[in-house]
This record gives sequence, C-alpha cells and structure tokens, in this order.
Amino acid sequence: MLAKKTNSYLHDLMKKSNAVKKQFQYCEQENQTGKTNEINPFAETSYEPVKNLIHKYSNRVLILFTKNCAAYCRFCTRRRVVSQKENAIDVDKMVDYIRSHSNIDEVIFSGGDPLTKPLELIEAMYKFAEIEHIKIIRIHTRVPVTAPDLFDDNILEAIKSIGKTKPVYISLHTNHIDELGEKTTKIIQQLRGAGAILISQSVFLKGVNDDVPTLANLFTKLTQLGVKPYYIHRCDFVKGVEHWIIPIEREVEIMTQLRKEISGLAYPLHVIDAPGGSGKIPVPTNFWEHNLDQFSDFNNKEIKMYGQRIKK
Ligand code: SF4
Repeated sequence: MLAKKTNSYLHDLMKKSNAVKKQFQYCEQENQTGKTNEINPFAETSYEPVKNLIHKYSNRVLILFTKNCAAYCRFCTRRRVVSQKENAIDVDKMVDYIRSHSNIDEVIFSGGDPLTKPLELIEAMYKFAEIEHIKIIRIHTRVPVTAPDLFDDNILEAIKSIGKTKPVYISLHTNHIDELGEKTTKIIQQLRGAGAILISQSVFLKGVNDDVPTLANLFTKLTQLGVKPYYIHRCDFVKGVEHWIIPIEREVEIMTQLRKEISGLAYPLHVIDAPGGSGKIPVPTNFWEHNLDQFSDFNNKEIKMYGQRIKK
C-alpha cells in the first residue's frame, strides 16, 4: 500500500488548486476492487540483472535509485514498491555490469525520486558518466514540482561538469499548469542555466487534465519555460488506480484537438505502456482510421484492449 506523504509547500498548493489536491489526497477508491489485480504490469523484475538495475532495452538501463519520493502521487504505477522500506543500492556493482555491456549508452535514474537523495545521486552520476560508452545521463524527477524547497543545488555543479562532455537530461513529471509555481519555475531556470536539457512527462488523469484547454495550457507553458513536452502516458492499468483512467476514445479526441491548437514543439507523444513491459506504444489520433480495440507491442504481440476499456 502506498504511504500517505505530502509537505507544507504542497499543502499550500493543494489549498489553492483542486487539480493538485486531487493528485495527492488519499481516496477510498484506491482500496476498492476493480477490473485488475495487476501490481507489476511491466514485469520489471524479469529484466533485473543487478538489484535495482532494469535492463529491458538493449541500449539503456533504468536505475531504481530509491523508493522514496518527496510526496506520493495517488496514481503511482510503482505503488507496489514506492514508499516501501529502502534497500541499499550497490552502484559499483551496477557500474561493473554496465562496463561489461558496451551496447548500453544511456543511464536513466528513476525510482521513487532520485532527487530525494542528491548527494548519493551526484556520486553515482559521476561514476556512470566516467564509463566511456555511456553517452547520456537522464534523471526522472518530480521534486521541483512537489518539494522545490528540497532541491539541492549541488546537483547543478554536477550537471555543469558532466554536461561538458555528455548531455544530462532532466525529465520533469508534471500534470497541470498549477504545479508550475514561482519556485518550480526558478529551479527550471537554474537547471537550464547549468546546461541540462529539460523534457516533461505527464499522465492523463480523470478530473485533473482530461480536457483540451488544461493540457494546451500545460504544454504551452512548459515549452515557454524551455521544457520540451516529451510523453503523455495513458494511466497504467494497475490495482488501486483504475479510478484515474479516462476512456481511450476521450484521450484520442483530446490529442487530436490539441494537435490542431498547439505547436508541434509543444505536442508530446501520447503512449500506452504495453502489458509485460514490451514498449511504450504510440496511440493514434483521429486524423487516421484506426481500431482502438487492440494494438501490437514491440514484439508484435497483439494486446486486446477490452480489459482496459473504461466506459465513456
Ligand atoms: S513522484 Fe513518481 S514515483 Fe513518486 S509517487 Fe509520484 S509518480 Fe510515483
């Protein structure tokens, strides 16, 4: 069960914005029985050659750096592990594994939120960046949004230094423009000033961002701040989060309309995570004839959508 955790900054934001409040306020529906009992739909543990290192795609590895976050989003896909007791991470063992796999060129720090352990993160970033065949460092975080007061600016020096030879990408998880307050904006500016390349990830959430104006505002604002909207995910079909899921037809309608209204630069890729962890599959728009009842994953396996269909 995902623990409840917020902080005073977020409390203020939750008072001002229902969209923010909804994302962090525990609700009874998390415990109700739905269509799925799935808790690990992406089978991450089947691709784990070193504890907390996921090697699913040939050229990149995902590091589950911590189980801790600055605040817990009630729709979290990794709710089976996030907020649970922390395990020690053996970075040196991970370095050994990566050194012996020259096909890996990218290290992605995720979790939990890696920026909740800034000093350990900095040390690990340097260790991975020293490996010659690692060309890209990427960090997924929500700290600048949920707890900007926790942001440790020692990370800026590391980004500056590593960024001289290898790009450091920061992927910011944000779902609504109300999350982009003054403090968050300042951190975005600092990260850009340090040379980080900023991208964003969002999730379609019922009652938070399931309409065109809300997402147009969010993606336009991010682009103006120098953050490229990268992905918008269909909310994963995981036990305890079904009440957040929007009908797929509605998502497609929204993305089709958005394509007409915002610039290509501000338009993210809409994806659904294939069950079993076989790829982030792009969802079609209504500019094309398509069938929303099924799709194929990266291994050409057909996935039926009926289990995931949520009535309009
Ligand atoms: S910040 Fe990310 S990992 Fe942490 S609770 Fe939110 S969605 Fe889950």
